Amino acid sequence: MDAFVWDQNFITGVEDVDVQHHALVDLFNELSSTFQSTDLDDREALLNDTFARLVAYTEYHFADEEALMRGVGLDPRHIVSHEAEHAHFVEQIRTIWSARHSMPDTAESIIGFLTSWLGLHILGTDQALARQIVAIAAGTTPEQAWRNEKDFPESKTTQALLKLIARLYHVLAQQNAGLIDVNRQLEMRVAGRTQELAHANEELLNANLQLEAFSRTDGLLGIANRGYFDERLAQACAAAFRREQPLALLMIDVDHFKQFNDCHGHPKGDACLQAVARAVEDTLTRSTDLVARYGGEELAVILPDTDAEGATTVAARVVANVAALGLVHGASQVSPCVSVSVGVAAQVPPHKDGSSRLVEEADAALYEAKAGGRNRWVLAPR
Ligand code: GH3
Ligand code: MG
Ligand code: MG
Repeated sequence: MDAFVWDQNFITGVEDVDVQHHALVDLFNELSSTFQSTDLDDREALLNDTFARLVAYTEYHFADEEALMRGVGLDPRHIVSHEAEHAHFVEQIRTIWSARHSMPDTAESIIGFLTSWLGLHILGTDQALARQIVAIAAGTTPEQAWRNEKDFPESKTTQALLKLIARLYHVLAQQNAGLIDVNRQLEMRVAGRTQELAHANEELLNANLQLEAFSRTDGLLGIANRGYFDERLAQACAAAFRREQPLALLMIDVDHFKQFNDCHGHPKGDACLQAVARAVEDTLTRSTDLVARYGGEELAVILPDTDAEGATTVAARVVANVAALGLVHGASQVSPCVSVSVGVAAQVPPHKDGSSRLVEEADAALYEAKAGGRNRWVLAPR
């Protein structure tokens, strides 16, 4: 169905102008039916093509009409305002077209604007143009012909309506431009918030990682705490059982440490424990080995994939490294310097939950080392 129905009232009597108006109306209707067709794959391309032809033809027609006005010698005041209407129309349709994707009713808005504008322009301005041409041909001066138009009643009404239409669509186009702007700002804010959120998430993740590391670490010695030791020993025991590999455990206790505190004071005692922890750490070579504070002045070392021979080698190094620190112990009965006793247990766990058995064996060996004179290591019997 045609959006623009041609009517006798549109005929100006200027043949070229009427033919061109007719062609323009055809193009409007073609654009309208392309809008209406929903089954086209290349609808967007077709729309753009029809619109481009429509604009090109409009510009051609306007130029032709403007040449005619000058050729006939119409009053310049009519020419100026008529040309301004033409220019404004071209500018308006381009604006509306470029903003059409953000319009709620694109087809209705565009076709509505095109048909009402052209209809009113032909009925008003172009009919006035035609009447002036006829009057000039009949001997009226261009100025008089123009003046007569001012008193022509239909001319006034249509001019007023035409202004109204142009104003209406101008507001529409402006609102669309505003909407596009608001949309863009919104998108930017969303992007900004997304970025902030990603940043916050990253910080939270880092904080969690830090918290986790913190919760596993002993505050004074900076090595694994008892909780993490229990967890790791259970894992190591289950893995050793599954792979049928030996797992070794060292229990290390500072000799006569109570006397050390009594003799040198607790702050020196703390520093001594820290030095002992570093010395024990230094004896370990594998990344899978773990040294932890078992409690008080007692440290424990987990040695995965280590048999009795390997474990006693490490234990001997621990005893030697601590002695090599040369930390003066003014109240020890076994050595002039701080020393440790080490209990060693090593076995292929007989079942996956064998960790407490291993601890008991290492503890018993430690007791033996203490009883045997301290500053030494003892391997739990197999
Ligand atoms: P043994 O040779 O039999 O191990 O004698 P010991 O004196 O080392 O054993 P005991 O278990 O009687 O004393 C351990 C002492 O370790 C008691 C406690 O004050 C001290 N201690 C435990 N934790 C800390 C600590 O974090 N800092 C300090 N300075 N001392 C600690
Ligand atoms: Mg103790
Ligand atoms: Mg002790």
